[in-house]
Amino acid sequence: VQVEIITIGYEVLSGRTLDSNSAFLARALEEASVQVGWHATVGDAPERIAEALRHALARADAVILTGGLGPTPDDVTRKAVATVLKRPLQLDEEVVASIRERAKKIGRKLPASVETQALIPRGAQAMPNPVGTAPALLIIQDDKPIFMLPGVPHEMEALATQYVVPYLRERTGRHVRSFTLRTAGVFESQLHEKIAKLPQGWPGASLAYLPSFQGVDLRVTVASGDGEHVHQVATKARQQLLERVGSVVYAEGTTSMEEVVGELLAGRGLKIATAESCTGGLLAKRFTDVAGSSRYFERGFVTYSNESKLAELGVEAADLKAHGAVSAPVAEQLARGAREQAGVEIGVGITGVAGPEGGTPEKPVGTVFISVASPGGESVRRFRFTGSRAIVRERSAQAALDLVRRHVLGLPLDPTLDG
Ligand code: ATP
Ligand code: MG
Repeated sequence: VQVEIITIGYEVLSGRTLDSNSAFLARALEEASVQVGWHATVGDAPERIAEALRHALARADAVILTGGLGPTPDDVTRKAVATVLKRPLQLDEEVVASIRERAKKIGRKLPASVETQALIPRGAQAMPNPVGTAPALLIIQDDKPIFMLPGVPHEMEALATQYVVPYLRERTGRHVRSFTLRTAGVFESQLHEKIAKLPQGWPGASLAYLPSFQGVDLRVTVASGDGEHVHQVATKARQQLLERVGSVVYAEGTTSMEEVVGELLAGRGLKIATAESCTGGLLAKRFTDVAGSSRYFERGFVTYSNESKLAELGVEAADLKAHGAVSAPVAEQLARGAREQAGVEIGVGITGVAGPEGGTPEKPVGTVFISVASPGGESVRRFRFTGSRAIVRERSAQAALDLVRRHVLGLPLDPTLDG
């Protein structure tokens, strides 16, 4: 089964709204082993929607449309679909009733125009929307399912998760298995050098390198053969990858670095405090993005000025003067200061030049020192990150988390693929 996703709306077409609906659907379908063959985006124009749907029906086995299901005159998806499929719009009494029901429940009088949402193409099946008024619609045309979903992302996501993904998963008989290994601290090219021609020994499998500011994810998809074959190839691929590059793998699937580090700290009953300069609190944000982080995250200091480094964390004025705020001794004293001030086991310090200004020949933009202090000892590393200010900050926070992870696990602090 090959699915085509059509997103509808001028705001998406023009780029003012990022097309997160396609991304969500494609990801959810991939996880369910349903292949997405095409994405299309059109404006709120009936003739364009009609054209996109005709193309989709000519090449895909199933179509999902999102957007333009609302009650306002610019929402024309239902009309366009009705025209293409030659199924006139009809008032669906059940949908009318559920719209009224919902209005009553939220205690608001909805305008009568809302009821135009109950005008649906003949033969369409309406699936109630748990978080909004526009129902999801399903039409089977020549054996091909066509779904229509509202454009509002959280409504679309709820309906897709509840109806569309399970429905399409059910219809695909293909055996597909995929897994993701998440690496940090090494380049794509370094991974590639190590992995080399391994994938050639995995029949029916493909390997994708997915780089981001957090690191490089390795995603393997095995998509041909029977269930047993697919399972064997996936198992072998995972094993071989871990043998070659396991030393830089911090997680599998979609687990984040902050979740990994958090579990590690919680599991060992360790508490942590952060002292940040160039990241301005980003590391503390990453830690506290995780529900339950109060078990191990004690506090975060954002000591941006030199004065605050002295006053809050006991950084030595002499060291600031001799080495500068961006230096190994200052990073170490930030980590130590955070640990002592908070009275916790682990302190982390970050200081660097995020840019775009402030670089020098000795400390160019992207130079960042990160230190971890714990009862087991102290460590500091110097990094040189590339990219914009925002990217340098993202990379710094990720490197700090990985440094904590390595420190706690007693791994080499420098991510390496040797040995
Ligand atoms: P409504 O009943 O709210 O009118 P609708 O089905 O008509 O729902 P749209 O009017 O197309 O949906 O879009 C509603 C909101 O959802 C808009 O804020 C729009 O920016 C957003 N949206 C629509 N399509 C997408 C998309 N593909 N990705 C992300 N956001 C989207
Ligand atoms: Mg709308």
